[in-house]
Amino acid sequence: GSTIGILGGGQLGRMLSVAAARLGMKTCVFEPGGDCPAAHVANYHLRADYTDEAALRRFADSVDVITYEFENIPTSALDLLEPLKPIRPGREALRVSQDRLTEKDFLTGLGLQTAPYADILTAESLTQAIEEIGTPAILKTRRFGYDGKGQARIMSPDEASAALATLEGAPAILEGFVEFTSEISIIAARGLDGSVACYDPGENVHREGILRTTTVPATLPAPARTDAVLLAAKILNALDYVGVMGVELFVTPAGLVVNEIAPRVHNSGHWTQNGCVVDQFEQHIRAVAGWPLGDGSRHADVVMENLIGADVERVADLASETGVAVHLYGKAEIKAGRKMGHICRVAS
Ligand code: ATP
Ligand code: MG
Ligand code: MG
Repeated sequence: GSTIGILGGGQLGRMLSVAAARLGMKTCVFEPGGDCPAAHVANYHLRADYTDEAALRRFADSVDVITYEFENIPTSALDLLEPLKPIRPGREALRVSQDRLTEKDFLTGLGLQTAPYADILTAESLTQAIEEIGTPAILKTRRFGYDGKGQARIMSPDEASAALATLEGAPAILEGFVEFTSEISIIAARGLDGSVACYDPGENVHREGILRTTTVPATLPAPARTDAVLLAAKILNALDYVGVMGVELFVTPAGLVVNEIAPRVHNSGHWTQNGCVVDQFEQHIRAVAGWPLGDGSRHADVVMENLIGADVERVADLASETGVAVHLYGKAEIKAGRKMGHICRVAS
């Protein structure tokens, strides 16, 4: 059996490791932190920093293929690993998605709709961008943002300088606010042979910038369902992508608008664990290991609910409910805003 190397030791790495084990494979997790969710279930935990070249070489030596569970892997580490073992999904997907500006340029270059956006270099360029884009708008750091971190809403032009100050000089973009009717995401996979498979789109609800629930089926006009699949395939093909990707979309009266892409398994795809024969984690492992993609058709209606911070204290009650599957990440310490686990409410 082969060994999958996973960069990053969070809950996504944990669930990828479980899926790999089910397929008779081993996993080696590269993660600087000690008590991480993935290390509890992976076969090997290489605990080292991304600047530790000897450790990166040992990691590459001990695996057959390298994948990742977060997109902010330092370029220097990727440069070192790339000639040693295949990295799937490849470098191009990381290059595009590590920076919101590069990502939006890529998406609009494919002819897809995004929010109107502008590169913000100075206070003057922000003033000008607000004149062009209007308010409300959202200022976002170009790199490293997740769960709504590194974002500031600008409701009127006089809020601009305060918003810019919260970003502490980090490179940023301004995005026009999209008046969406709903948010959906499409979890798509592409195999080594170029075949593409998409899961049913899920409808997402966020609170305080963090995903709270994903519901399948999404309430969607039929053409939007088809559009979502076609645009996801367009993105994956353009990147010669191998693996699972999450594509976040706004549904608007003028069609689908791409919010962002994530070159990995995605929180809004967790419903597949209890709604499909082959879930997104197995699908990703299949793809990066060069297996055929599995059957991702949906056999149940599911509501996935994240357990964030103290939510996890309700787990005993939730576990006794009919149709509820519990997924916990093994994190010892409860923190506000921290994803501790999720449940899937399943109705066949
Ligand atoms: P994630 O954890 O999904 O990576 P993130 O920090 O990258 O989140 P975004 O997805 O950019 O953040 O934004 C979080 C949420 O804020 C979106 O799902 C959406 O609800 C809202 N939002 C972001 N950008 C816009 C926009 N341009 N117009 C309207 N709403 C937006
Ligand atoms: Mg994001
Ligand atoms: Mg997002």
